[in-house]
Amino acid sequence: MIKEKVKIVEVGARDGLQNEKTIISLSDKLKFITLLCETGLQTVEVTSFVNPAAIPQMADAEQLFTLVKKNLRSKKINFPCLVPNVQGYEVAKKIGVEEIALFSSTSDSFSKKNVNASVDETFKRMEEVAILAQRDNIKIRGYISTAFGCPYEGRIDLKKLMNVTERFMQLGVYEVSVGDTIGVATPGQVRESLKLLKKEFSLDKIAMHFHDTRGMALTNIHVSVEEGIRTFDSSAAGLGGCPYAKGATGNVATEDVWYLLESLGFETGIDISKLAFASEFILECLKKKTGSKFLRAYLSTGKT
Ligand code: MG
Repeated sequence: MIKEKVKIVEVGARDGLQNEKTIISLSDKLKFITLLCETGLQTVEVTSFVNPAAIPQMADAEQLFTLVKKNLRSKKINFPCLVPNVQGYEVAKKIGVEEIALFSSTSDSFSKKNVNASVDETFKRMEEVAILAQRDNIKIRGYISTAFGCPYEGRIDLKKLMNVTERFMQLGVYEVSVGDTIGVATPGQVRESLKLLKKEFSLDKIAMHFHDTRGMALTNIHVSVEEGIRTFDSSAAGLGGCPYAKGATGNVATEDVWYLLESLGFETGIDISKLAFASEFILECLKKKTGSKFLRAYLSTGKT
């Protein structure tokens, strides 16, 4: 029987590491990404062209991407990079980035704290970048943060989520990733949101990005699968904490997502032993233990 495929967007090297305090060297980042590229993952987010003063972990973005391109080009893997503005875009384009990710929150309060601009101002900035990217034939992915809840505004009204999704589609994104940045989404809320989203948008242009801060990520992914979503963002070993909840977990671990989706009969294309190897490597660099329950069990027993 042929299994239905699901796509996993590996965000560990960017979204994961940018929320880790220990600064990882350029060569270790390259090694981590190289190992991730051997797992069967088709999309590996590399870095973010942000102001290094704001996020020191991403200060080597230009060098890292250049090395990834030089060493891993033949793998035919997508290597998206975050771009916050036209300046970041110009750097990314110059060194051959072929896919960018643009990001906005649903809430003005979060947006102002995060990027010092309202949602409207953020979209104006992104429109400038999107026009250039389309001219240059560079693919665009969209990221919605605080899609379900905001640390300052609480639960997000569905209308806001619909509106921001629509605005991303108008930017010409091929896919928008709906992110539960602070890990508050509940299965009922996810189902309700997806029922509405799929009335307006094609589900193959929507990805879900869950955080496991309150232990709901896998349940929310299961609900999303039932509603027809086939693309999920996740982070190897569950890298990246939650800046809005000290000591809490952030990104759902790719290993946990792998176990759930494969058990539901889907094909992720990932070799779990190779993924665990990549995760072990980066965990050693960070000198930390994984938040992934599956990975802990797997590393201790060697069995799925
Ligand atoms: Mg995340």
